[in-house]
Amino acid sequence: MKIVQAVILTLLAGLPELSGFSIVSAHARGVDGPVKVDTAGAEQVIGKLSQDPRVRSAFRSIEVMDAYNVERLIALTEIPAPPFKEVARAKKLVEGLRAAGLENAQLDAVGNAVARRPGRSGDRTIAVVAHIDTVFPEETDVTVRREGNIYHAPGIGDNTRGLIVLLTLAEIMEKHALSTDADILFVGSVGEEGLGDLRGVRHLFRDGGPEIDSFIAVDGGSPDRLVTEAVGSNRYRVTFSGPGGHSYGAFGRAHPHQALGDAITRFTQAGREISAKGTKSTFSIGRIGGGTSINSIPFSSWMEVDMRSADVTKLEELDTAFHKAMNEALDSENRRRAGNAALNLDIRSVGKRPAGSSSEGSNLFHHASAAMRHLGVEPRVSASSTDANIPLSLDIPAVTMNRGGISRNAHAPNESWENRDAHVAIQILLLTLLAEAGR
Ligand SMILES: [Zn+2]
Repeated sequence: MKIVQAVILTLLAGLPELSGFSIVSAHARGVDGPVKVDTAGAEQVIGKLSQDPRVRSAFRSIEVMDAYNVERLIALTEIPAPPFKEVARAKKLVEGLRAAGLENAQLDAVGNAVARRPGRSGDRTIAVVAHIDTVFPEETDVTVRREGNIYHAPGIGDNTRGLIVLLTLAEIMEKHALSTDADILFVGSVGEEGLGDLRGVRHLFRDGGPEIDSFIAVDGGSPDRLVTEAVGSNRYRVTFSGPGGHSYGAFGRAHPHQALGDAITRFTQAGREISAKGTKSTFSIGRIGGGTSINSIPFSSWMEVDMRSADVTKLEELDTAFHKAMNEALDSENRRRAGNAALNLDIRSVGKRPAGSSSEGSNLFHHASAAMRHLGVEPRVSASSTDANIPLSLDIPAVTMNRGGISRNAHAPNESWENRDAHVAIQILLLTLLAEAGR
């Protein structure tokens, strides 16, 4: 790895560097921020950027770095980053950002890796964010297995590759002295997945946190996907608890598992009707558990439930149906019990990701679309649940863009990442970032 790194640095150092003059910002600034661009305006900005000699050199460097990026993708994937335990990988990212030249890189209070690259005016800040965490528990084997151009390991695509992209962008901008008008905030975020509930990005947008004017999340494994809308989600941990007892001797007592089964059936029936029409709305019981032995009535039965929709109203409908189903199942089991002890029902919210307005029509959307088209990718606008949910819910322009290559089986143990034209996504992101930040 050391040798490859040295070779790359030598190659980068050999590329022409223009210096000493400041390039006029592509954005003429209005009083309230950058001038609004439309499709044609964005295409013009991107076209101009792509003629910039430094950008052209940067593009070549990104191609040259491909093999090195694969090598360090493997190394980073093999540093586990389970939910709430991202610190080892986060520290590695801070090291990388510092080595790139961003000496202020550090971990913030919740463990995000954050580095600011000052712009010429610094009047605005563009955040580019990739999440550090994976969905896989600590004991998961994260050894990378290679099969030609395909690399297999849990978390390799989602989102270790995103972190490599983040690092590459920082390195390339520094190496080629690509100055911008706005500040750029590079962030490796914690807690994007599952029960992390976007805690890293929530912290970023806390009261008194950094002002962020637009937000680019690097996540997702389809090259043409441009996420402009937030899929909201509500998540719960449900526990039915009761006295428990012997399966034969205490037969008839209120039964937590049977109540849970009934609750699932009721919720599934109602949920299917809601999901059958309108905006895509989903629900899933992700985990269930409880019980002590085959011949015991359990004293506790639990499940984790996830429901999602980009439509706030649909999500509320699902949420209402869910609560109704849980309470009906509780009542039904308690009514039919023999003996005094009733079941208790505990419903705990373990995640609420806001559905948000769309960023379609924003400058960021136009810049991203134009950058994609410029490199031959026709954007497919979609909704998803990513770090961008938080800024979208605050009406801050945000998109989620591809991390390069092809990701398959995200969140499954047989996850894989294919190195197919992976550099193109980094080039697209660089153009988008420069257009948005004002070159
Ligand atoms: Zn992800």
